[in-house]
Amino acid sequence: MRYVQIDTQSDPQSSSYPTTEKQKNLSSILATELQLMGLADAHMDEWGYVYATIPSTTAKKVPVICFCAHVDTAPDCSGKDVKPILHKNYQGQDIVLPDDPVQVLRMSEYPYLKTQMGNDIITASGLTLLGADDKAGVAEIMDFVNYLTTHPAVKHGTIKILFTPDEEVGKGTAKADMKKLGADYGYTLDGGDAGSLEDETFSADAVQVIINGVISHPGYAKGKMVNAMKIAGEILAALPKDRLSPESTDGKRGFIHPVRLEGIAEKCTIDFIIRDFETAGLKKKEDYLRTQIEERLRTYPTATFTFEVTEQYRNMKEVLDQHPQVVDYAKEAIERAGLKVKMESIRGGTDGSRFSYMGLPCPNLFAGEQGIHSKLEHISVQDMNRAVETMVHLAMIWEEKPDL
Ligand SMILES: [Zn+2]
Repeated sequence: MRYVQIDTQSDPQSSSYPTTEKQKNLSSILATELQLMGLADAHMDEWGYVYATIPSTTAKKVPVICFCAHVDTAPDCSGKDVKPILHKNYQGQDIVLPDDPVQVLRMSEYPYLKTQMGNDIITASGLTLLGADDKAGVAEIMDFVNYLTTHPAVKHGTIKILFTPDEEVGKGTAKADMKKLGADYGYTLDGGDAGSLEDETFSADAVQVIINGVISHPGYAKGKMVNAMKIAGEILAALPKDRLSPESTDGKRGFIHPVRLEGIAEKCTIDFIIRDFETAGLKKKEDYLRTQIEERLRTYPTATFTFEVTEQYRNMKEVLDQHPQVVDYAKEAIERAGLKVKMESIRGGTDGSRFSYMGLPCPNLFAGEQGIHSKLEHISVQDMNRAVETMVHLAMIWEEKPDL
């Protein structure tokens, strides 16, 4: 509740690192608090990343694991002057947020609340998001550090702590120093329901299409002018509406999604994002899109186009499948914490998907956050405790198992 009161909203328009300087207000507090808990190397670097090490308590050689959370909150919803409220002993009632009574947390809209009877729920006050995404993960990791440093009898290997800025704007790994971190495997604490474990994300490409028309004086354009904007309109109209789009797909289906259009009669640029769980599926969608464009342009022989694909991130599962113990140990830890494992796939990316391709296989563990990026964001204290317990078991399991 203390961390969410510090505004750490990131900014997609900014080109500085971190994208907003205010994220460091929380990160520097975290570095200090880690130091106070006895982690001598805890520090924040110039980019706002916090690194720290919990020294090993075992004579065994154990792989170094890392727990990671992001300090920033989503640009979709204000994170300024967050007033967290603790609703003790929830009994299924509607929770009206006092600063905007239109904001009501109802079990009918958030059925996961059925699992929270008798628990203590934290919400914001109605004007802002709560910031449980991902200050829940931050708080849980801090509590985990506190537990291990005050229970030295618990056997575990070297554990690294990493707090990142700018996850919400897709830049959370941009300045991460993997060599300095020195971890073999990682876990982000940034998931929802207690017991959930995410080992799959989308694979993602961006495609930029530039249509070059033919320009001339509109009064004397007959037979000459080719308007790039009109071609762009035809291309967008040709995209299927009942499939291959974000608004018509869920589960394991991917899509082609135009995100930006800019142009004049002479030249028009369309930016697309392409998503699929399989890299081969991305290629298929890109080929499909290219074919659609070629077909439209057949009518305009003097117009040309370029088609540029940029890789954004890849499904972490392709990496995690090569290191099955990372996910297996997490499942075991969740079960030891008395929970049922819920395997989930993310229709998006996480810092973990990028970390996984930077040499740190990194699935996403639950943190308990619900209703993220909205004024109705909430979390239960009990789910947060379960996340801490899961991390402690995970640290112990890595120490118990032989190094693979
Ligand atoms: Zn998050």
